[in-house]
Amino acid sequence: MEKRTVYADNAATTAMSMRAIEAMTPCFMKIYGNPSSLHSIGQEAKEVLVDCRERMAARLGCKPEEIYFTSGGSEADNQCIRSAALLGARKGKRHIVSTAFEHHAVLHTLDKLKKEGFEVTLLDVHNNGLITAEEVRAAIRPDTCLVTVMYANNEIGTIQPIREIGRVCREMGVIFHTDAVQAVGHIPVNVAEDNVDMLSLSAHKFHGPKGVGALYCKKGLPLSTLIEGGAQERGKRAGTENIAGIAGMTAALEEACEHLEENMERLTKMRDRLIEGLKKIPYSGLNGDAKRRLPGNVNMSFEGAEGESLILYASAEGICLSSGSACTTASLQPSHVLMSLGLPHEVAHCSLRITLADTNSEEDVDYMLEKLPKVVERVRNISSLWDDYVSGKIPHVLGGKTQG
Ligand SMILES: *Cc1c(COP(=O)(O)O)cnc(C)c1O
Repeated sequence: MEKRTVYADNAATTAMSMRAIEAMTPCFMKIYGNPSSLHSIGQEAKEVLVDCRERMAARLGCKPEEIYFTSGGSEADNQCIRSAALLGARKGKRHIVSTAFEHHAVLHTLDKLKKEGFEVTLLDVHNNGLITAEEVRAAIRPDTCLVTVMYANNEIGTIQPIREIGRVCREMGVIFHTDAVQAVGHIPVNVAEDNVDMLSLSAHKFHGPKGVGALYCKKGLPLSTLIEGGAQERGKRAGTENIAGIAGMTAALEEACEHLEENMERLTKMRDRLIEGLKKIPYSGLNGDAKRRLPGNVNMSFEGAEGESLILYASAEGICLSSGSACTTASLQPSHVLMSLGLPHEVAHCSLRITLADTNSEEDVDYMLEKLPKVVERVRNISSLWDDYVSGKIPHVLGGKTQG
């Protein structure tokens, strides 16, 4: 097969869609005003802002005044969690429930809060990468002020029972936040139907621009300010608005929602074809539930083939993949997500994440199915870890079967 470039790292970031770029261009050229300015050029920018807020709200199932624009998913996570914590502290409630395999934007914020006197319960996920609403219920205490559980995991793609967890939180009177950065634009998300009080999203994960995102905060729930200095976003987020970014994000979300069903169907087929093909590699296993996972997510372990080497050898074939999440590839620790599934250290270390988007083709899948088995073989041939498996020093745990 002729060499090609396959971008299959869409959980790290996505290529921008033409529609998003076209929505942004006028904001650089013509609508360059500051929305806070009272003159006509400023007011034109203000109109874009008002219009985008309405359109975003319509897609998410909330009111425009419940949307706050941010610099991305990380900021949204920080602000939602800090707001709920502050509100809890005022009532003497200093306990937070979350999971061990959240994104670092959530986990590191929780670490900071622990140093500030909060107590955090991190639920263990099952080896299929899921938790249950009943486990959340059991963890809630009278002093719990927040439950934060991600909608879909960025590494293994598992989709949590958000609606049920939301229902439990409503019953128990606890604020429920979800990091929906991997879900929005990929699977149906509706804050009203999903019983969530706060939600984070990011544009660059659904073909919008980088550096812009939004949070949803249910009306009546006080949001506290992370960035001081101006009256933008109703005083909750200072800084001249990123009008072009917001316009691009809105266009990208609309486009993603318009094609949601067809994209999900097509990607699920491509995903399952990849999994079936790669499972034929001996001593391999799928990480995370096979069914309750994002349409474009494949995460597999190949015993004795280190993730870093797999990425480099795949890259030499033109295939762009990831091992852990983008933020963990620089460190030698295996991903906290894979460790939370209870995988042995050496298996977690030997994993590959392939994340497809609607920009990928069936030919991309064919190409990966041809090249990746050879990549695994090449990496094993130079791996001392693989030698340990061959000599029996380390027992195989995968044996070519799928897990979960
Ligand atoms: C990418 C990502 C984030 C961070 O979003 P940024 O816009 O890059 O700050 C947060 N949570 C999850 C699950 C993500 O995948």
